[in-house]
Amino acid sequence: MREDGMDRAPEKVVVVGAGVVGLSTAWFLREHGVEVSVVDRRAVAAGASWGNAGYVSPGFTVPLPEPGVLRYGLRSLTDRDAPLYVPASADAGLWSFLARFARHCTARAWRRSMEAFAPLNAACLGAFDELARGGVRARAVPAPITAAFERREQVAELRHEFEKIRQAGQDVEFSEPDIAEVDVPQLSSRIEAVLRLEGQRFVDPGEFTRALARGAEARGASIRTGFAVRDVFRSGSRLVVRSEQHDGITADAVVLATGAWLSPLARGFGVRRQVRAGRGYSFTVPTEHPVPGPVYLPAVRVACTPYQGAMRVAGTMEFRDPDAPPEPARIEAIVRSARPLLRGVDWSARQDEWVGPRPVTSDGLPLVGATRMPGVFVAGGHGMWGLTLGPVTGQLLSEQIVCGKQPAALRPLDPLR
Ligand SMILES: Cc1cc2nc3c(=O)[nH]c(=O)nc-3n(C[C@H](O)[C@H](O)[C@H](O)COP(=O)(O)OP(=O)(O)OC[C@H]3O[C@@H](n4cnc5c(N)ncnc54)[C@H](O)[C@@H]3O)c2cc1C
Repeated sequence: MREDGMDRAPEKVVVVGAGVVGLSTAWFLREHGVEVSVVDRRAVAAGASWGNAGYVSPGFTVPLPEPGVLRYGLRSLTDRDAPLYVPASADAGLWSFLARFARHCTARAWRRSMEAFAPLNAACLGAFDELARGGVRARAVPAPITAAFERREQVAELRHEFEKIRQAGQDVEFSEPDIAEVDVPQLSSRIEAVLRLEGQRFVDPGEFTRALARGAEARGASIRTGFAVRDVFRSGSRLVVRSEQHDGITADAVVLATGAWLSPLARGFGVRRQVRAGRGYSFTVPTEHPVPGPVYLPAVRVACTPYQGAMRVAGTMEFRDPDAPPEPARIEAIVRSARPLLRGVDWSARQDEWVGPRPVTSDGLPLVGATRMPGVFVAGGHGMWGLTLGPVTGQLLSEQIVCGKQPAALRPLDPLR
């Protein structure tokens, strides 16, 4: 007996959104033999999946709302370089979202959400391995992430966070090597201490997402770009995915995986928890020496990653419309905050300046599963960690769609919560 109101497993599914989450879902649905079409209003990796930091990091995948974020939030109202930025023009809807977000910034709520992340984090690298075994050709490089601090006592905060992650049931392995033994030539003389998170990976996220698309196509999925979905409705026993410019596409089930653009499509199916765009910026800079692995600067919340022979730098969280034009001042704020902590970086030779919307929910948990309308599913709201959690999301959701039963790990992510 299925739990989602459908009378049998779907034979044909349309996935809306060709980011890492939608494409992972499509890939795993093909594994189950389901006919799949992916549609995107623009292109493969047109959203947050292109310019992100590329960390595949179960050790850092924790709920965004936590007591410390409130401190950053308050700073953002007075400091233009703060890593969290709420524009003065924020509308009433955004303020009410932020108020709900603030209510989740408690130690208790964090622990509860962390317990929901733990099983996903435990399975996420396995899902990447399954994609690789199934022919998704993109390099996921195993590497530690080096978190670098100006003052020795700052390490305690991250160490404490790792201890809390362990208490929530997740294994994290980290070490605190002496700074003299750390072989990361980009760390400036202001860095006094590091903490090394072991067992993580990194990818070129654009390359990875395109490889996923090719892998899904090689398994028989079709991908149609330039198809902006306006709505989804039922017609007899089938669902119709409609766009402004094209004829509708019919299917037995639909997965809405439109990242920060999820809410307008999902709201009508009972998904009341909103997704808002927490926009981040990134760019690429040449470095004097090769970058040996990912470097994280917790004090300024900037992530650096080896990228195409140079270094990608990513940071900031700006709550603004996902389609608003980029704000060059945010890039300059990242440069000002990271420059003193790094050396051998040519900040003036920036390339690939990019803005992309993290799909953020007010309780910090993704929205994955069935909606009130039988056959309509959502997969989104992964916030800071949709690359890390995209493949495992696709793996678990495809199982739910085919078997009609919610996997235990998806229960806390129920989109009707
Ligand atoms: C600066 C930055 C750094 C980050 N670093 C990391 C990191 O290191 N590790 C990590 O795990 N995560 C990271 N993230 C988060 C990660 O990028 C996102 O969580 C993830 O990419 C979300 O994937 P998605 O598939 O849900 O959404 P997206 O990649 O945004 O894809 C959504 C797609 O839906 C399409 N779409 C939207 N509306 C419609 C419509 N109506 N019809 C058809 N198509 C539509 C869009 O064109 C888009 O292609 C970072 C994000 C940012 C911004």
